[in-house]
Amino acid sequence: MTTRINPNRPSKIAAAGLKRIVLTAPTNLQVPHQQKPVRTKKNLNASYLVIAHSERGTLCDHALQTIAAAAILADAETNVLALILGELTEDLANVGADQVMVMPELDFEHFQPELELANISALIESIQPLRIFIPDNHTGDGDLGRRLIAHQKTKTAVTQVVEMDVGHVATYQAGGTSIAQTALPEITLLVANTVDTHLPFTALAQRSNQAISNQLTSNSYQDLGMQTIAATEIALEEADFIVSAGNGVQNVATLESLAHTLEASIGASRVAVDDGKFSRDKQIGASGKTVSASAYLAIGISGAVQHLQGIKDCRHVIAINTDASAPMVKRADLSVIGDAEEIMSALITLIAEAKSANLKVAA
Ligand SMILES: Cc1cc2nc3c(=O)[nH]c(=O)nc-3n(C[C@H](O)[C@H](O)[C@H](O)COP(=O)(O)OP(=O)(O)OC[C@H]3O[C@@H](n4cnc5c(N)ncnc54)[C@H](O)[C@@H]3O)c2cc1C
Repeated sequence: MTTRINPNRPSKIAAAGLKRIVLTAPTNLQVPHQQKPVRTKKNLNASYLVIAHSERGTLCDHALQTIAAAAILADAETNVLALILGELTEDLANVGADQVMVMPELDFEHFQPELELANISALIESIQPLRIFIPDNHTGDGDLGRRLIAHQKTKTAVTQVVEMDVGHVATYQAGGTSIAQTALPEITLLVANTVDTHLPFTALAQRSNQAISNQLTSNSYQDLGMQTIAATEIALEEADFIVSAGNGVQNVATLESLAHTLEASIGASRVAVDDGKFSRDKQIGASGKTVSASAYLAIGISGAVQHLQGIKDCRHVIAINTDASAPMVKRADLSVIGDAEEIMSALITLIAEAKSANLKVAA
C-alpha cells in the first residue's frame, strides 16, 4: 500500500512524526475506464460492509470515498458490499463496490434509527462482515454508526478517522493538535476527504434490493415528518440549491425571479454585496459564508479564490459567464457562456413553460 501526503489537507506532525495522509490505490491512476481490470470476480463469503444513506438516488462524495476505502483495503478474497439506505440510481462499480444492496425504505427523509439498526444488525448477523465502514457525517450516517458501535459491543471501533491503511487508523486528538493511532478496527467511521476515489480497478457492482423487516418490539421515536419551508427562509449554509449573483448581474429583479422560479436560495459575491445589490448575509466566500449546496448556479461571478473557498463543498457548480476563461468556468461542472440577463430570462421562460406543460399532463 502506498500512501501519499495531500498538501491541501491539514496535517500535524505529532511527537511520533506522523502526518495526515490520504488513502490511495497503489498503481497508476491514469488507466482509462474501459481498460480497468475488475478487482475481484469471485463470489466470496468474506466481506467488507460499507453503509451509507443516499439522497435523491445518489451518494455524496464522502460516501463514495468510504466505499473506495473499503475497496482499496480489501484483498482479492474479500468482497466489498455497499449497503445503501434509500433509493439508488447510480452505478458504484467505479468506486469499487463488488455487491450493492439497496434498502429503499430506510431513506434519509424518515427518522427511523431503530428500524435501521434492527435491519442492519440482522444483515451483519447473516453475512458476518470482517469490517464495517461508514462515513462519519452529520446527515444520518455518523449517528447510525455510533448507534451501531453501541449495539455491536464486542467489535472494535474508531470514529472520526482521518487516515488509514491496512495496518492502522488515526484520529485527531486535543482539538487537532495531535494525532492518535491504533490498529484497523472492525468498525471505522471515516471523515471526508481521506480517500482518493480514483481507483485503478473497477468492480462488478452486482445489485440486489433487500426487503426490510418492519417488526420492531419497541419504538422510542415518532417521526413527525419533514417540514417544507420556502427556500428564501433557509440559511445559506443549509441550502441545497443556491442561485448566486456576481458583478456580472445588473438586474437583481431578474435574478430574484429566477431563484423564485427554481425554488433556490440567493447568494452573492463580495462585489455584488459591496455594491449594495444584496445584504451582507448573502455573501459567500472567505469573508462570507461557506456553503455546501448540491447545486450552485454562479451567475456573473469571476471565481476569485476567496469566493471559491466558500463553495469548495458544493457538489455541482454551474457557471453563467461571458468570459469562457473565468476561473469559475474552470471550477464549474457545466458552463453557459453568454450574457447573464439574456440567459436568466430565457431560463425563467423555459421553466415556466415546462411547469405549465407538466400541469397539463397531470390534469
Ligand atoms: C481578504 C479578502 C476577502 C475576500 N472575501 C471575499 C468573499 O468572501 N467573497 C467574495 O465573493 N469575494 C471576496 N473577496 C473579493 C474577491 O477577491 C473578488 O474581488 C470578488 O469575488 C469578485 O466578485 P465578482 O466575481 O462578482 O466580480 P468580478 O471580479 O468583477 O467578476 C465579474 C464576472 O462577471 C462576468 N460578467 C461580466 N458581465 C457579464 C454579463 N453580462 N453576463 C455574464 N457574466 C458577466 C465577468 O466575465 C466576470 O467573470 C475577498 C477579497 C479579499 C482581498
